[in-house]
Amino acid sequence: MSPGRHGKLIVISGPSGVGKSTITREVSRRTDAEYSISATTRPPRPDEQDGRDYRFMDRDAFERMIEQDRLLEWAEVFGNLYGTPAEPVRLAVRDGRTILLEIDVQGGIQVHRKMPNAEFILITPPSEAELRRRLKDRGTEDAASYKARCTQAVEELRLARKSGAYRHEVVNDDLEEAIEKIVTIVNT
Ligand code: 5GP
Repeated sequence: MSPGRHGKLIVISGPSGVGKSTITREVSRRTDAEYSISATTRPPRPDEQDGRDYRFMDRDAFERMIEQDRLLEWAEVFGNLYGTPAEPVRLAVRDGRTILLEIDVQGGIQVHRKMPNAEFILITPPSEAELRRRLKDRGTEDAASYKARCTQAVEELRLARKSGAYRHEVVNDDLEEAIEKIVTIVNT
């Protein structure tokens, strides 16, 4: 990157089941954008690694980060805390690097207040019915958590649109098309 050029912050949000993680991973593979590793109190899943997928920590450590103002944003999602460490983002943007945050809408709105010039992308399902189908197909959900995720997904879309923070909406109908649209936003 040319010296003096400010880096770019890209915020990607969207309801659970919309294909956000797949898209974000692929966008970061195809561009210079670096994936920001969030802190969370959620326990790691079997295929996850500390420092690669998340920085896993207990609630006390997370709350200390909040008190010390070390998070750019944070939110509670399904009973766990998630947040973006502020320092790596600040340094990346200062050094002209592009950084990609995959965070929930509550977090995206907080980033929008602090950094309105970032690019905010909301990934949406082709329809509500399709989203329900995708959440069901995951098969990892019991009935109660399936229902909670559906309700949460619809609410998250509503909140995102109401906030006016998300300038871009990308429908994940065709995965490849959705990825390429975001690659274009990153590279513009
Ligand atoms: P999961 O537990 O499935 O990895 O993530 C659950 C939700 O938390 C997803 O919607 C994900 O985008 C969101 N999330 C992950 N990291 C962060 C973060 O740093 N901040 C916020 N606000 N949400 C996050």
